[in-house]
Amino acid sequence: MFSYIALADLIVSTFNLSRSFLAFFFLFSLSSTVTYIAMLPLISAKPQNLSPPLSFHFPLFPSSPTSPLSFHPPLKNTLRLRIRSIDAAQPYDYESLLRTQHFKSQSLKIAILGFGNFGQFLAKTFSRQGHTLLAYSRTNYADTAKSLGVTFYNNPDDLFESHPEVVILCTSILSTEKVLQTLPFQRLKRSTLFVDVLSVKEFAKTILLKYLPAEFDILCTHPMFGPESGKNSWNGLPFVYDKVRIGNEEDRISRAERFLDVFAKEGCRMVEMTCAEHDRHAAGSQFVTHTMGRVLERFGLESSPINTKGYDTLLDLVEVTAGDSFELYYGLFMYNKNAMEQLERLDMAFEAIKKELFGKLHHVYRKQLFGNADEGVEDRPKVQKLLHNGAPPSADAVKPETS
Ligand code: NAP
Repeated sequence: MFSYIALADLIVSTFNLSRSFLAFFFLFSLSSTVTYIAMLPLISAKPQNLSPPLSFHFPLFPSSPTSPLSFHPPLKNTLRLRIRSIDAAQPYDYESLLRTQHFKSQSLKIAILGFGNFGQFLAKTFSRQGHTLLAYSRTNYADTAKSLGVTFYNNPDDLFESHPEVVILCTSILSTEKVLQTLPFQRLKRSTLFVDVLSVKEFAKTILLKYLPAEFDILCTHPMFGPESGKNSWNGLPFVYDKVRIGNEEDRISRAERFLDVFAKEGCRMVEMTCAEHDRHAAGSQFVTHTMGRVLERFGLESSPINTKGYDTLLDLVEVTAGDSFELYYGLFMYNKNAMEQLERLDMAFEAIKKELFGKLHHVYRKQLFGNADEGVEDRPKVQKLLHNGAPPSADAVKPETS
């Protein structure tokens, strides 16, 4: 015993240490050794009949349905704990806390009204981005909603009482006005942001201004893509929007921006334009595209072993437009005042092409029947491109055919 005390004195004097430090060091070493000896049977025991090790998988996003928190059953015989992730975020991990806070501050509580084809398509991306999603539709989509991480409500009252920050209208063009008339707006917060995605914009703007309480913000949008054209990525696809009525408060402005950011983050080409401007452009592009797709579908295009690139493009067009409901197409026609004019132009263009073809055929027949006898007499007018407003070209503009 005396020799230990003498040894301790020697160490203290040699290394210039305090006695209390030496005592602490001694006790620490002793407790580590005892712990190690106690754990020895556990560490060295050979596992028998082991079930899979205890493991946790954390989802990328809290609401992600694809990566649920999984827990394997308790171990048999011997307990073996294996920590698979050494980089799990700890409560004191400041970086992860900041990331979570930023993530929460960007995420929105979004209610989708009309959970059909397009509503579900949007929900997939909203959900992947980590937004909280609620939905209501006249059809019961509870199972589909669950698989997408969306809470489904059977009536709009319950949905609105959950106080979503954003309500997005994904109902058909034809039904939207009727739907708006029945919604219990009084259950929502007065600052709610209403967004629509109708493919016709002037009509949407008019009815939203007519039926929504004056306190609500209104953002009219048209994602110019759908479940077919945007199935792989939204990158580079146009997203048209018009901030019809957004309050001056900072939180209202930032909420609208955060909603638009959902699409910007996916790489959409963000185009701000008025609803009237949108309808003018869309009638000439979208309505004509849908019409040609439907005409070719009726015509019955079929793939062949020698498809040209052009023909493949036509087949793609049929596929893209066939996925959309006829109700949607009818809505484009009914509620875009420019659509009728485009339909007439298409009709006239088709007639003009037919006329040109049959005119040439007639010429060949005449030549066969009468030889060159009437050469020079048959100076037929050449068919011109239709004027932009759909009217046929004036008589002055029609040049005689020289061939
Ligand atoms: P749609 O046929 O235009 O609309 C289907 C949706 O409307 C469903 O949610 C349906 O609800 C609801 N609906 C129809 N009639 C209703 C009624 N009488 N009462 C209540 N709800 C009714 O097809 P969609 O493709 O899903 O389009 C939805 C909206 O997105 C449309 O306004 C469309 O213009 C717009 N949009 C579509 C695309 C696209 O590519 N599909 C692209 C951009 C924008 P239930 O299913 O519950 O019956």
